[in-house]
Amino acid sequence: MTKIEVNIDALEHNLRQLRQKVNQHHASSLVMAIIKANAYGHGALNVAHFLDQKVDYFGVARLDEALKLRKLGIQTPILVLGGFFSESELTQFVEYNIESVIHDDAQIKKLQNWQKENQENRSKLSVWVKVDTGMHRLGFDPEQIPSVFETLKTLPNIEKPLHLISHFANADQPENSLNQKQHQCFEAVIASLPKEILGKKTLVASSGLLTLPDAYYDMIRPGIALYGISPFTGKTSKMLGLRQVMTLKSHIIAIKSIQKGDAIGYGSIWTSTKMTQLGVIAIGYGDGYPREVAQNAPVLINGRFIPVVGRVSMDMLVVDLGANAQDKVGDEVILWGEELPIERIAELSKLSVYELVTRLTGRLEIDYVYDKDNHNCKNDKSFNEREEE
Ligand SMILES: *Cc1c(COP(=O)(O)O)cnc(C)c1O
Repeated sequence: MTKIEVNIDALEHNLRQLRQKVNQHHASSLVMAIIKANAYGHGALNVAHFLDQKVDYFGVARLDEALKLRKLGIQTPILVLGGFFSESELTQFVEYNIESVIHDDAQIKKLQNWQKENQENRSKLSVWVKVDTGMHRLGFDPEQIPSVFETLKTLPNIEKPLHLISHFANADQPENSLNQKQHQCFEAVIASLPKEILGKKTLVASSGLLTLPDAYYDMIRPGIALYGISPFTGKTSKMLGLRQVMTLKSHIIAIKSIQKGDAIGYGSIWTSTKMTQLGVIAIGYGDGYPREVAQNAPVLINGRFIPVVGRVSMDMLVVDLGANAQDKVGDEVILWGEELPIERIAELSKLSVYELVTRLTGRLEIDYVYDKDNHNCKNDKSFNEREEE
């Protein structure tokens, strides 16, 4: 079957690794697992279920993502990174105990109005004030922050102290000079605030967490690294001590012999230079496998790397198994997994790893597995049972 497998043991391994790394530098740092965009294609509700109470926070982009988690019974604190957009959203943030980023003046106005209309409501909203330290996406200018804090301090429906958040623009390039500048700017903002009103501070996501130990502060916000995928071009997760959590799998649905000179697929962009056997695989760009992938990009079949040939179509792609191949219809095909890093496929499609995982479509089922489910593992019960047969 064509599907995604998510390995919970690998996920927990990565969480342990990241916690260990942080604790070496800043023992009290909390971990916010970023599970926006359906947990980067890994299934947000299940990932949240497995990590509930094991991480300190969940981070999502939008309120509806947070509401789904609360309705599932997730207890862990949740921060909505995009913040609230309306007063009716504000009511839901408070009702479901969801924390919000606040990043512009329009939100402060809405907060003040909501305050007036909800004076009898004693529930409070926890907020993370976002400062734009140089990315120029969301956030107040650094010099605005003291007055934002002053204003929020006077609102009784806002939980005190107030937290502070910012985000790096180029942390995936450790040598980039903007990193230092953003970090210094964050420091200056902290210094401009009265200590008693300032709560937690958080700056790094995955790449900063792997390269900027001085910037851990009170909380790290790993997304991509938690899933065992490297945010750095030219580095795989293995090099970082992480395990790729996701395996994308399919199977051979047809095998066909062709002659020298036969062209295959849409546009006939690949022509065989020899007699060979083609394998037709039941996965395509309609599942999220990149149509952009280079000719001869590898898939893994029966332990061999086999090249993709011709254009990837919506529901299928074709590989060149070789003239003497013994592979059969039904054999498993790995498009990416621990033995075939997704970073490699990203490189060969000129796409980011972030885009590859988030563009997987709803047609793919997600199975949650453990190491012991892997039939290649030694000491595995089902492996032993098969030996005895
Ligand atoms: C998406 C996001 C993260 C996680 O980024 P990764 O590079 O996947 O670790 C952290 N913080 C914010 C504000 C984000 O938007």
